[in-house]
Amino acid sequence: NRSRANDYVHEVYELIKKRNPDEKEFLQATREIFDSLRPVFAKHPEYIRNGILERLTEPERIISFRVSWEDDQGKVHVNRGFRVQFNSDLGPYKGGIRFHPSVNTSIMKFLAFEQIFKNALTGLPIGAGKGGSDFDPKGKSEREIMRFTQSFMTELSKHIGPDVDVPAGDIGVGRREIGYMFGQYNRLKGGYEAGVLTGKDPNHGGSLGRKEATGYGTVYFVEEMLNENSLSFKDSKVIVSGSGNVSTYAIEKALQLGATVVACSDSGGYIYDKNGINLDTVKRLKEVEQKRISEYVKEHPEAEYHEDCTAIWSIPCDIALPCATQNEIDEIAAHMLIGNGLKALGEGANMPCTIEAITIFMENGVLFAPAKAANAGGVAVSAMEMSQNSMRLAWTEEEIDERLKLVMKNIYESCKTAADNFGKPGNLVMGANVAGFLKVADAMVAHGIR
Ligand code: GLU
Repeated sequence: NRSRANDYVHEVYELIKKRNPDEKEFLQATREIFDSLRPVFAKHPEYIRNGILERLTEPERIISFRVSWEDDQGKVHVNRGFRVQFNSDLGPYKGGIRFHPSVNTSIMKFLAFEQIFKNALTGLPIGAGKGGSDFDPKGKSEREIMRFTQSFMTELSKHIGPDVDVPAGDIGVGRREIGYMFGQYNRLKGGYEAGVLTGKDPNHGGSLGRKEATGYGTVYFVEEMLNENSLSFKDSKVIVSGSGNVSTYAIEKALQLGATVVACSDSGGYIYDKNGINLDTVKRLKEVEQKRISEYVKEHPEAEYHEDCTAIWSIPCDIALPCATQNEIDEIAAHMLIGNGLKALGEGANMPCTIEAITIFMENGVLFAPAKAANAGGVAVSAMEMSQNSMRLAWTEEEIDERLKLVMKNIYESCKTAADNFGKPGNLVMGANVAGFLKVADAMVAHGIR
């Protein structure tokens, strides 16, 4: 059975390599999963008979569309919009929208693919998708953002709906953009479909605690992992990359648990303060004033600012929380962190570590919390937002936080159990991949080959 399983995984990987030769990030994400799944196929030949891996690696649908918009000077621009509807065996497609110049088919597909396993791990009824555009929000005026976002939704609205596909935010898309999209969607549909998007303002149909959920969830998950190993955030030195939707609230929760956060970053560079950075300043600069993190040192001359955001990993710390973007930690960064005494790492961003970096962390005994599990808190509270929208009522912040804690704890337990059951105790990378996979694979078998 074992060699049949190995052959099967190899065959399917060759197939998708041939079919998607230029999709670097997508191939990276699939390879990482495939490495974990060999023992699963050895135990479950019915998954091979049902062609689960071939079907799971081909999106149900990829929508690509033109987004035309006019800037403040009256010049016309055209961007490309995407929605990858990857898998709907566990519920309506669910996943964020990213506005960033790097967005392309490969990045959309890797994100939507990872979302399958992440969403399955939450235990909530959501399928997987991802969308976005190569539009660069940096330096755009408020009105330009609005016009672009409305134009994007004019097309996207034809493909989504509360029971079909429910987008949310991701890099470059926060509450403001979700608000514009929600307004445009409802205008086009001539109704008020609260459950079509999540990450809405809690005063207009959103859920309390959604904004904080990804960052808080990451810290809750990592704290579980630390406690299991007689460690904790208390009195530890932490680096959190990024300063956006995820990073800000990972910092906030780490501080609440008694950690010192010495550095954070944006795409222009990083700030370092050995006594701990001031979160209020970071929040005001990034959330209210939309400024660069370099401005921080003007108010805090005791802190340092360095261009080159990836050099943030040269700072010694006990716990690293990469919360910026994909592949921000490579093998060089991994070696630096380990050399400086890193004990644990939690992925707040999607796929922030390369496969080589993950291998290095594991081989050196660093406790490693993979993104699919550790950053699932955001989409989990999104699913709770969908529930509240369906019921037309709102839960309290305390209720959401309790549920979020429970979801993160359950995810931790399922990852641990899956790793134990498939012969890799303590390996949460394998555990997350396998636990997420089993859930969706069973649904795919039950729903038949189609
Ligand atoms: N973009 C987030 C993620 O990577 C959230 C998705 C959602 O809330 O639907 O999981």
